[in-house]
Amino acid sequence: MIQEQLFDEAAIAARVRELGAAISKDYAGKNPMILGVLTSSAVFVGDLTRSIEIPCEFDFIALSRYSDTEGIRFIKDTTASVEGRHILLVEDTIDTGLTLQYVLKTLRERQAASVEICTLLDRKQRRIAGMDVKYRGFEIPDVFVVGYGLDYQGRYRELPALYSHGSWPK
Ligand code: 5GP
Ligand code: MG
Repeated sequence: MIQEQLFDEAAIAARVRELGAAISKDYAGKNPMILGVLTSSAVFVGDLTRSIEIPCEFDFIALSRYSDTEGIRFIKDTTASVEGRHILLVEDTIDTGLTLQYVLKTLRERQAASVEICTLLDRKQRRIAGMDVKYRGFEIPDVFVVGYGLDYQGRYRELPALYSHGSWPK
């Protein structure tokens, strides 16, 4: 059940524009590859790329996570090779960090020229795998979030703002 609104459309749009401006400055002349983690980052990637004012490309990966210990695998890989490319990984939320830790390791093994992280939301309390996060939209408390691409059991992705949900998915 939806509880309170955390960030409204205007606050999200303003923060996404700031992130886009910073990325545009840092990546000028580098033709970065924006790499979104499906499905919940899709809305963010769509808005973020439109706020980036330099030439860039974007692509998506999809991952399946079995459990914290069993590991993670790609269910959709990149379309083009990442070798020699400047990769900006885009997530909606970093929680334990285990998903991105796996992706970072894989992209480095594939010899990307650089890999940085951009996340809309950062929930630091539950972090297991530490990592440098170069671009961060908002820090969030220990609540489950829905809306703006984020779901609870498939629901609420279409909502334009971000809300806390009363419970965590099982
Ligand atoms: P981590 O591997 O860092 O524990 O989890 C990150 C993944 O879990 C992300 O792909 C993100 O989409 C999902 N996730 C983490 N927190 C939330 C949340 O509050 N709401 C939703 N809908 N997904 C979340
Ligand atoms: Mg996700």
